[in-house]
Amino acid sequence: MIKKNIKNILVFSITIILVACSGVKNKSQQESTTVTKGKSSRPNILFVLCDDLGYADVGFNGSKDIITPSLDQLANSGTVLTSAYVTHAFCGPSRAGLLTGRYPHSFGSQFNLPKNSEVTVGEGIPLSEKFMSKMLQESGYYTGAVGKWHLGAVPGYHPNDRGFDDFYGFLGGGHEYFPSEFIAKYEKQVANGVKNIWDYLTPLEHNGKEVRETEYITDALSREAIRFVNDASKKEQPFFLYVSYNAPHTPLQAKEEDMKVFDNIKDKDRRTYAGMVYAVDRGVGEIVDALKATNQYENTLIVFLSDNGGRPDKGADNSPLKGRKGDTWEGGFRVPMFFHWPNQVKAGNRYNHPVSALDFYPTFAGLAGVTLPEGNKLDGKDIWNDFSSGKTARNGGMIFSMRHRNGFSDVSVRQDDWKATKAYKFGWKLYNITNDIGEEKDLSSQNPEKLKMLVNAAEAWSKTHTEPRWFDPENLREVWKDKEMAKFKETFNINK
Ligand code: CA
Repeated sequence: MIKKNIKNILVFSITIILVACSGVKNKSQQESTTVTKGKSSRPNILFVLCDDLGYADVGFNGSKDIITPSLDQLANSGTVLTSAYVTHAFCGPSRAGLLTGRYPHSFGSQFNLPKNSEVTVGEGIPLSEKFMSKMLQESGYYTGAVGKWHLGAVPGYHPNDRGFDDFYGFLGGGHEYFPSEFIAKYEKQVANGVKNIWDYLTPLEHNGKEVRETEYITDALSREAIRFVNDASKKEQPFFLYVSYNAPHTPLQAKEEDMKVFDNIKDKDRRTYAGMVYAVDRGVGEIVDALKATNQYENTLIVFLSDNGGRPDKGADNSPLKGRKGDTWEGGFRVPMFFHWPNQVKAGNRYNHPVSALDFYPTFAGLAGVTLPEGNKLDGKDIWNDFSSGKTARNGGMIFSMRHRNGFSDVSVRQDDWKATKAYKFGWKLYNITNDIGEEKDLSSQNPEKLKMLVNAAEAWSKTHTEPRWFDPENLREVWKDKEMAKFKETFNINK
């Protein structure tokens, strides 16, 4: 505590010196620095999200062929969270869970939003959910989002409506990467009078205004994150920046120079994917340089993770985890993650207890000094103290995952060392996930009571779900009706 206070005083003093030296600031700006002490006691939060990044596809998680020097530098001088789960095994619901702090199933967002062109007015993550960005904005944070949104593309659901002061990116579920190529395709379709143009081709935007981007998209997003960091450094408030790279999500498109780094990788998809990850790594390195150059590095918590597991059919590697994006096997929703914050997050450390993306909301609220309203319905917990002292944050607490398929539902539940899962058409399995990270040895017959308890807990959780508000692809709407989804009775029948 004393150390933190000394640091705060130091940061405060340095800020005053810098402001005094700048000489060009007007009187009111100088006066506003009197609240800089508040800024130094509340961290900036830089949140870096990748899209479909495999568990094994970063150096800090043991990748043998993809190098990620900037990410590794941060991870190794921070703490790697080895048992980190997102709220869903694919994009839209995972992000909805992340930003609302609640399971997406509880507010009907268990499918991706349909493509922009198919969205009708009123479709977006329900406005009853207050986003983490809104909570931080209301508490005085300067907030920015860069990159992929995927949480509502119509007025009222735009990032600027959900707590982000600044947004640069695209509203759909992904994007092509080379402007010279996608703009040409886009303009051709416009000229041909095509009405429903694929949102992977549409121009990017800045706060609702169309922009004509010219850089490779990953580089463009890094550039805009740096712009935000520079802007934020001139403000008296702390900042929250959500950098949502669409890389390495398909389409697999990398710069030649980035692919050349991986000449040793023979498989072309893997080589392209590696180049895409490398571009993210380069960008994160540059954002960190900007934090240092603007004297904000010491007071910035950096969080890095993927929104769901990788696709081995598109160059990703989730080993040693079983399964892939979309699964309730670990490979679907256990993701690479680290925290970095000089002097506040332990360096060179690994935290192996389970954490959930649901925990960010209450944890960031705690760090920002925000008292959440009584009776809030958040599903995660403020993990900061337990994380900092290396203890489990959820002794006995459960982490759930559920994915609805064509006529049946996959589900899993983790509690401490144990995980029960029902995936595809397999029956319920039980694993000691601490000893058996690859989910190879089913221990259900040796531990029937444990399995029953976990399945019952998952069933109780399913009672909090509501009907999906939309479906993707749209034909699942009929399937849902015809096959009487979500088939909970069948799903939680332990003998099936
Ligand atoms: Ca994703």
